[in-house]
Amino acid sequence: MYPPKFEVHIASSLKDALEKVEEGYIPLAGGQSLIPMMKLRLISPGRLVYVGTLAELRRVEEGGSFINIGAAVTHGEIENSKLIREVCPLLSETASEIGDLQVRNMGTIGGSIAHADPAADYHAALLALDARVVVARSEGTRELPYSEFVNGPYATSLEHGELVYSVKIPKAQGGYAYVKFTKIHTDFAIAGVAVLLEATDDLKIRHIRIGVTGVQEAPFRATWLEETLQDAKLTEETINKALSNLPIRPISDARADEQLRLKVFRYAVKKAVNKALSRLKR
Ligand code: FAD
Repeated sequence: MYPPKFEVHIASSLKDALEKVEEGYIPLAGGQSLIPMMKLRLISPGRLVYVGTLAELRRVEEGGSFINIGAAVTHGEIENSKLIREVCPLLSETASEIGDLQVRNMGTIGGSIAHADPAADYHAALLALDARVVVARSEGTRELPYSEFVNGPYATSLEHGELVYSVKIPKAQGGYAYVKFTKIHTDFAIAGVAVLLEATDDLKIRHIRIGVTGVQEAPFRATWLEETLQDAKLTEETINKALSNLPIRPISDARADEQLRLKVFRYAVKKAVNKALSRLKR
């Protein structure tokens, strides 16, 4: 189906884009979520402002203990950037799991997090990485933790007149892994689990963060699991025990029912933790 007629303004600068957004134009980046929704006539915005090539949103900058990734940087660039792979390999691994080559070539990190599909892959990694989102508006920028940026399924704390400017990620040491299970290849996650950890030589967990997507109505940090595993010696038994009584309510949908999701979630956690451990530099 074709979308109803719409006009596209190609922003010449961030200032121009912000003025248009203030006037009610809807931002268009890679179009990988917005255009399908328009084709399905779930939304019919009459005026779009294209932000996908704005230099201000295309930067990847390393600064002190952070790396800043512009909103219009594509999934493919995050997957393949030498710098991001070096200082934030969890995010590159996550980007490599998104959709197919075309989606990764067009789709952007800013578009993905602004769209906030509850099963989008970046949620898991950005929660585990303790990322922050930099939001631009005409008066300047504001910054907030990713956990406060996503409010629920397809809901963010972006306000009228605002654009995602960049994602700011603390450089992290340690083992990492993003493990995703799908019903069919290139689909959204039934369960996606991102793990970042540090452990002693005898596998005692010193620090662990676990971000989850696709399992519940909204992405979450598995803090209760983190607390159980903190200071524990990681064995098959410890992890099985930690996963035995979970305070979560998996959703049921066309991809998987609640029971299957729970099973897949447990498996994804085990696999991600073990993969992260195997990547620890010793
Ligand atoms: P757009 O589609 O251009 O925009 C999406 C939304 O974000 C719109 O509301 C738009 O107004 C808003 N927006 C865009 N940029 C900004 C900004 N800078 N500031 C504020 N608002 C902004 N995603 C996954 O995570 N995992 C998958 O496995 C996956 N598979 C897919 C498979 C297919 C076939 C397709 C078509 C998509 C898939 N996606 C998947 C979604 C994909 O990641 C999209 O790229 C992403 O959700 C949207 O990014 P975009 O740049 O294309 O944004």
